[in-house]
Amino acid sequence: MKIDILTLFPEMCNEVLNTSIIGRAKAAGLVDIECHNIRDYTEDKHRHVDDTPYGGGTGMIMQAQPIYDCYMDVTKDRDCHFVYMTPQGKTLTQDKVRELASYENIVVLCGHYEGVDERVIEELCPEEISIGDYVLTGGELPALVLCDSVCRMLPGVLRNEEAFEKESHFSGLLEYPQYTRPPVWRGREVPEVLLSGHHQNIEKWQNEQSISRTKEKRPDLYDSYCSHIIDK
Ligand code: SAM
Repeated sequence: MKIDILTLFPEMCNEVLNTSIIGRAKAAGLVDIECHNIRDYTEDKHRHVDDTPYGGGTGMIMQAQPIYDCYMDVTKDRDCHFVYMTPQGKTLTQDKVRELASYENIVVLCGHYEGVDERVIEELCPEEISIGDYVLTGGELPALVLCDSVCRMLPGVLRNEEAFEKESHFSGLLEYPQYTRPPVWRGREVPEVLLSGHHQNIEKWQNEQSISRTKEKRPDLYDSYCSHIIDK
């Protein structure tokens, strides 16, 4: 899979993408992620990429031309799924992440300042994705959230598929509680069943915990899980 990020701040993205699990996946050739500086495509002699909004208002708007030319250059010899990170988009979910992980090529546009000239959105028709109902200063952190969540679904990035199949949201439930050494910490003991070595009992306990903590922490998820089970 190849992910191209269109941004005014590639250094901000590269720092994160070259670290830890995603950095290792890149180094191993499991995913190719490239950041493109939209400023490199400006036709403005002062290299400006933004201007004041028509109609007044505070802040600056990213101009359509550099974004359009950057997108056209990056996609010139490939079909790509185009995503614009925006607080106005549909909220990213694990199901959407799974869908995005099935594309060969994704291009992600990061807005900045007050956003981007609407005409480039009308022209290129990206899928609009938000990471939540709050507003950040730029699309770089949302793009990184998207890249991280998508990359960890790719074959070979995590040690085995179970690593994400049992995790929160994959099957509609939250994950069961996890523990590591020591067996007793500040008087708190690891549940006995986890020390028993009895795999069936451990799995049963984990499933029960998954269900009960989803009911307690996320009743909305629990309700849709129950209706899904009834439908089956
Ligand atoms: N004026 C825009 C509005 O009210 O809808 C918000 C612009 S925001 C300050 C600047 C950029 O940050 C956006 O173009 C978008 O790329 C990114 N951004 C901010 N919050 C986001 C969120 N929750 N999800 C995805 N992208 C976001």
